[in-house]
Amino acid sequence: MAVKKVILLVIDGMDAVNFTMSDTPVMSGIHGRTAVGVAHTEIIGAGAALTPIAHAMMGTGSPDVVAARPGLENTGKCYNYFGEVVETVGDVARTAGLATAAVGKNEAAVVLGGTERLAFCRLEKEGINASDDALLVQEILKILGAMEEGILVATYGGVDLAGHRKAVSDLIRAVEKADQMVGVILKEIDLSETMLIIAADHGTNPITGRHNTSPTPLCLISGEICGRVNLGVVHNLEIAATITGALGLRPPVRAVGRDLGNLAQKVACGETIEQDYQSELNRQLADFYRRQPRRHELVPGPRRSQ
Ligand SMILES: [Zn+2]
Repeated sequence: MAVKKVILLVIDGMDAVNFTMSDTPVMSGIHGRTAVGVAHTEIIGAGAALTPIAHAMMGTGSPDVVAARPGLENTGKCYNYFGEVVETVGDVARTAGLATAAVGKNEAAVVLGGTERLAFCRLEKEGINASDDALLVQEILKILGAMEEGILVATYGGVDLAGHRKAVSDLIRAVEKADQMVGVILKEIDLSETMLIIAADHGTNPITGRHNTSPTPLCLISGEICGRVNLGVVHNLEIAATITGALGLRPPVRAVGRDLGNLAQKVACGETIEQDYQSELNRQLADFYRRQPRRHELVPGPRRSQ
């Protein structure tokens, strides 16, 4: 599968429960070009740093990343635990001469290695209201019209915002608005040259008003997919390899997991390979953690004389 453009639409806070409370015909695949999975996000704890880290995982395909939300003082680069910059899908794309674009919440740029080298940047820090679905669609379509080849990451904030406010009906409406956004985008793009990936960084529970670690939906929409393919349990780490696989690029150096577009095609062809893929992901993750250096030994300081 080789397409010219990949759109990654991150619906901040849309966990599997928020998704199923709402009416989402487009993301659920009424058009017959969808592969859906339930994604594991592997994020422990919930706090201010969670959303940028979740976006970094999507862009690097690596579980040991940290990132700060881009703003006045940060560009949103992804680092490993030792402070080394980690390659993202954005870096891979730019090296191959493709453009990168970020729209909506500032953390969208984290997926692409930060704001420094983006060809198009329409984020909150440029004055964009990331909860305004109509505005986001307008910005996304404008960029797609100007971008020949590349990756566009957009993060919509409406669902997360309603969740934090404990506004259940607003949250349901925001998920439905996200679905309508996807519908408008689909009408404007040619699925033979553009793949659309819809994912979420984490769930936001509208009863507690807090982030959670519930599974999140992951949808791939592509001209190569026929019908509605069930991907089963997937991982948000696999988004990196899926984006680069769709564009015919190599995955980021530290990426683990599977190319889900490739998996969708195999499942659609009736191949019973799910078990192999699942064990391959588990093998890669176990290998990754085994290779991680142990925590630095603490060097004892001079003893205080008594
Ligand atoms: Zn939030």
